[in-house]
Amino acid sequence: MLMDYVKSLSDVCGVADFRKDSQQLIETYGQDICKYPYAIVIGHRLNEEIVSKIPLSYNDDDIAEEYQNEYFNSFKRISGISHKVEDYIHDLGYNCVILNELEKYEDIHLKTRFSNKASAKLAGIGWIGKNNLLTTREYGPRLTWSTIITDAPLSKYTGNVMESLCGDCNICVKACPGGAIVNLDNPRKSYSPIKCGDYIKSRKKEGHPTVCGMCLYICPYGNKI
Ligand code: SF4
Ligand code: SF4
Repeated sequence: MLMDYVKSLSDVCGVADFRKDSQQLIETYGQDICKYPYAIVIGHRLNEEIVSKIPLSYNDDDIAEEYQNEYFNSFKRISGISHKVEDYIHDLGYNCVILNELEKYEDIHLKTRFSNKASAKLAGIGWIGKNNLLTTREYGPRLTWSTIITDAPLSKYTGNVMESLCGDCNICVKACPGGAIVNLDNPRKSYSPIKCGDYIKSRKKEGHPTVCGMCLYICPYGNKI
C-alpha cells in the first residue's frame, strides 16, 4: 500500500536498506543516519520542455532564467510530495524523517548534508555519472530527489546497488563548457566542483543567470532526441 502510494506520486522510486551499507553511511553522516532501517527514494522529473531548451540558454538569458526557476521550483514540488508520503507513513502508524529537510526534526543530526546519491545508488535506481549527477536509465539526470528514512516494513521492496552505466560514454565530458568533467569512471575524480563553480561564476560576472545545465541535458540516458 505504502509503495503503491509512493509510486503514484513519483517518476522514479525505490527503497534502500541502510543496514546493508551502515558502516559507510555512519562514517559519513553519523549514527542518526541509521535511525530507521529503510530509505524511500523519490525522483521527480524536471519539466522536459524547459530542459530541452538548455542548449539555447547560453545565448538567451530568458531561457537560462526559465531553467533556473524550474530547477528551484522542482525542489518545492518534491518537498510537497515528500510531505504527502510523510503524512501517509504517520497515518499507518510508523515513523519517518525526510532527510533533505532535517531542520524540521529536533532528534536527528547528521555530520554533513545528506546526498540522495547515497540512497538512490543503494536502492538500485540510479548511479553517479561521470558528471557527478545521480543518473537513471529512464530519465538520465533530469530529476530532483528526496529520501525519507522510515521504520515502515519495506524489506520486500529493497533494491541492490546499481553500478555505473556510463561505460565508454564521454558525451558530458565533451559538452561541459567549463571543462569540469574528465573521462574517468570514479565520479569523485572525473568531476571538478571547482571548475564547474568557476564556470558558473564567470557566467554570473558577465551578467547572465547563475545556471548551467549542459551535463544534465546532454546525457543520452535522458536525452532521447
Ligand atoms: S553544470 Fe555546466 S560547467 Fe558544471 S559540470 Fe555541468 S556542464 Fe560542466
Ligand atoms: S553523458 Fe555519458 S558519461 Fe556522462 S553521465 Fe551520461 S552516460 Fe555517463
